[in-house]
Amino acid sequence: MKILVLNCGSSSLKYKLFDMESQEVLSQGQADRIGMPDALFRHERKEQKTFLDKTPLSDHREAVNALLAFLGDAKQGILADMRDIGGVGHRVVHGGEHFQTSVIVNPAIRETLEDTKKLAPLHNPPNLMGIDVCTGLMPGVPQVAVFDTAFHQTMPEYAYTYAIPYRYYKEDHVRRYGFHGISHRYVANQTAKILQQKLEDLKIITCHLGAGSSLCAVSSGKSQDTSMGFTPLSGLVMGTRCGDIDPALVSFLVEKEQVPLSSVMEILNRQSGVFGISGISPDFRDLEEEARRGSKQAHLALMVYAYSVARGVGSLIPAAGGLDALVFTAGIGEHSSAMRRRICEFLSWIGIVLDEEKNVDSTVEGVISREAAKVKVLIVPTDEEKMIAQETREVLKKQSIRH
Ligand code: ADP
Repeated sequence: MKILVLNCGSSSLKYKLFDMESQEVLSQGQADRIGMPDALFRHERKEQKTFLDKTPLSDHREAVNALLAFLGDAKQGILADMRDIGGVGHRVVHGGEHFQTSVIVNPAIRETLEDTKKLAPLHNPPNLMGIDVCTGLMPGVPQVAVFDTAFHQTMPEYAYTYAIPYRYYKEDHVRRYGFHGISHRYVANQTAKILQQKLEDLKIITCHLGAGSSLCAVSSGKSQDTSMGFTPLSGLVMGTRCGDIDPALVSFLVEKEQVPLSSVMEILNRQSGVFGISGISPDFRDLEEEARRGSKQAHLALMVYAYSVARGVGSLIPAAGGLDALVFTAGIGEHSSAMRRRICEFLSWIGIVLDEEKNVDSTVEGVISREAAKVKVLIVPTDEEKMIAQETREVLKKQSIRH
């Protein structure tokens, strides 16, 4: 079976086409600047051939059409028959409290999904547009929604409840939701495979450290708590996002800057994090380089980030009920040995000892802690698209068993 995975942003569309038997990516690509005159669709095929398509894409419908035309093209295409696509897995950022697992979208589900738009006004509308466009263009092909929030729906009530008047939860569903759930779940599953233990028997904290960063405590195979909250602005310090701050700072900044609240939210979302501290860059490679050259601000930004992760890990140990494995993933987690070292140094008191040779050398999946260390430390490259494809196949399998 072949599964197409789609991630629709407001002016972009990313895709991967998987062969589920071999688990191979047959083709992948990205359309950018949809709706603008210089839209570009870039495809990369399994045999490393690259195709650039500069045909104008006025909207997402045209982008999906161009994708299907490319995949089915007689000369350069990869699908002999469009009916080979057994299902489409869509990344949907927010499922609210409605969705604890992935679902096949039918008219009733689509209506419920409409309700989630207000919880993620930037992300969910383009995600849902992708579902609508595919439903129209691929009649009979199941469209599956896979949510970033679903994995965290197992959090206990005491972990997701905010200490503000309870009616905001009752009336407006204000609570901790958490994000990056597709990644945390994939990485936790892989960790169990690498350690050759059952996921249910492990106490894990997964560290998704990318431009957006979050932690997740996993025990009994479930997410017990996570660092992000009602929105992806909270929790860890990030590239440009502030993470947890004193909420009173918001009104302080409104007063000080004499600007509307929306401008302050812009500062907290786009001008804060390690970028805000350093004044240099949100990119950790630039910061490492500048710190090496002696920039104190770059060094401070890196230390604030490392401490925020270590502090977050410490705060999640009660949720995990202990710690067997600490797992690094995403851009920084997978590639920055310096950042892993800084974080682990803060955590040596819980029995974390890195094997420096493995840490420096490794960007590949595996254990990087010393043999005798109490807590295993691992690098597990995340693969959210693969997880979405696997989820899609699982959902389709369950449906075919039911019928
Ligand atoms: P997202 O998917 O959230 O956009 P990624 O997971 O791709 O982000 O991570 C992007 C971040 O990873 C960037 O800040 C980048 O600087 C960082 N990164 C990538 N490679 C390295 C590296 N070798 N050393 C340090 N940071 C890195």
